[in-house]
Amino acid sequence: MLFMFKDKNVQKQPCEPECCYRNVSRADEGHSDDNYQFGTKLVCFEGEHMLRVKEEFIHIRCFCTHNNATVHEDFRAFIIPKKVSGSSIPSNKTRQNENDEVLNVYLIGLDSVSRLNFRRFLPNIEKLLIDKFHGIPMMGLNKIGVNTFPNMLAFLSGLQMDQLNQSLRKEPFDDLPFIWKEFSRLGYITMFNEDTPEIATFNYKKQGFYRTPTDYYLRPLYQAIEHSSYVKSRKTLCINKRPQIDFQLQLLQDFMNEATTPQFALLFSSALSHEGPLTYVKDMQDRLHQFLIWYKDTERYNSSIMLFFSDHGMRFGPVMRTELGGYESRMPFFYVLLPPWYAVRYPQRVRHLRANARRLTTFFDAHATLRHLLLEAVRSQCAQLSLLSVTSAFHRLSQPQGVVKDTAYQVQAFEEYVVQFVTTPGLGEFEATVRSRGGSAPPEELLSVVDVSRLDVYRGQSDCLKQRFDEMRFCYCQSLVQ
Ligand SMILES: [Zn+2]
Repeated sequence: MLFMFKDKNVQKQPCEPECCYRNVSRADEGHSDDNYQFGTKLVCFEGEHMLRVKEEFIHIRCFCTHNNATVHEDFRAFIIPKKVSGSSIPSNKTRQNENDEVLNVYLIGLDSVSRLNFRRFLPNIEKLLIDKFHGIPMMGLNKIGVNTFPNMLAFLSGLQMDQLNQSLRKEPFDDLPFIWKEFSRLGYITMFNEDTPEIATFNYKKQGFYRTPTDYYLRPLYQAIEHSSYVKSRKTLCINKRPQIDFQLQLLQDFMNEATTPQFALLFSSALSHEGPLTYVKDMQDRLHQFLIWYKDTERYNSSIMLFFSDHGMRFGPVMRTELGGYESRMPFFYVLLPPWYAVRYPQRVRHLRANARRLTTFFDAHATLRHLLLEAVRSQCAQLSLLSVTSAFHRLSQPQGVVKDTAYQVQAFEEYVVQFVTTPGLGEFEATVRSRGGSAPPEELLSVVDVSRLDVYRGQSDCLKQRFDEMRFCYCQSLVQ
């Protein structure tokens, strides 16, 4: 990894400056999420230099050689390629089948920005998302808990706080079913890029992760930055002269540029939006705009879904005494950015999404969307099945007027079809129960699949799925097809 080191301040010092860098890394893996360490090996250089850096995070210090006084300090992060741990999905470039739906998943969150404040303070972003990305704003998305943690927990794991069978303050979250773990097992490379380590989502009055949760995990770097006297003494929200959001987005861009396998990234930014003033939100606009324009022009846009969101709205201040304050607090902004071909290939999905955009939704719905994307990626490992033969079919009718005998319940009258069939390749035997409601709506809305059972043993056919999915019973691994 090459970078150019250049700082005008260094040149101006009345001294002979020398710079050295050292590694910054996570410490106490398996025991804590709060410790980092500096490497003992120093690499030093003078003047302007192109350096080859093998470390993921480095701390650079420049000093006058005659008195050792610090004249400059900085941190840098590099995307060093890593081995993917899960089963491997071929990259977008090498995949054979055009219908493979292995989308990169990018979640970009800004803490505490209501939908209304998003429109007030980031109007250029709103315009860009609507006009250029045809982004879909989930206008009825409500938070499900007070602050960051319950909402992000629901979004990322589908769990509510009271479902957690652990002490929030004393035990780490290593074993929770975060969605990035499942993407990782499918061969995605993962990044968790969150600033403000003191109040981080899973660390504020909590234990975080004792085991590194994602392939790229920025917490040790942000901790070192936070504790650096050089950065801190200026009481600035910047990292030297760079806004924190710039630091975070640049890392994400480097990550996106690097990819040969599908990616999952979560970027969550609190520094400029969590405590206000709200003008800080506006200060992010230009950099966010620049990032989104960059994204739109990359190959990534064509193979990715981006969810651009906040966890909740503003929770403090005089506005909370007003009726509007309730909406401000409860309704964060949330945009879905689909690849340009998606609406062409899946008009019905996008129609439903646009209908849901005007309904009341929560982070559990957002989680279900992530799960849907995961299943699309699962399916890409399985062969496309086609119908070989129907072996039996039954037609069942409910009681007239839908009365259920023995109880006082009235149910809507329905008809059911129970169909047994065989698919190829793999000669899988299935039984599907399909219910029809009658009426004049289009057939896809009148018929609903109640359940599909697998009737024969499928051991050996779905081994390519390295973890248990309900969908295993449908999967005939692509690798078994001659
Ligand atoms: Zn929050």
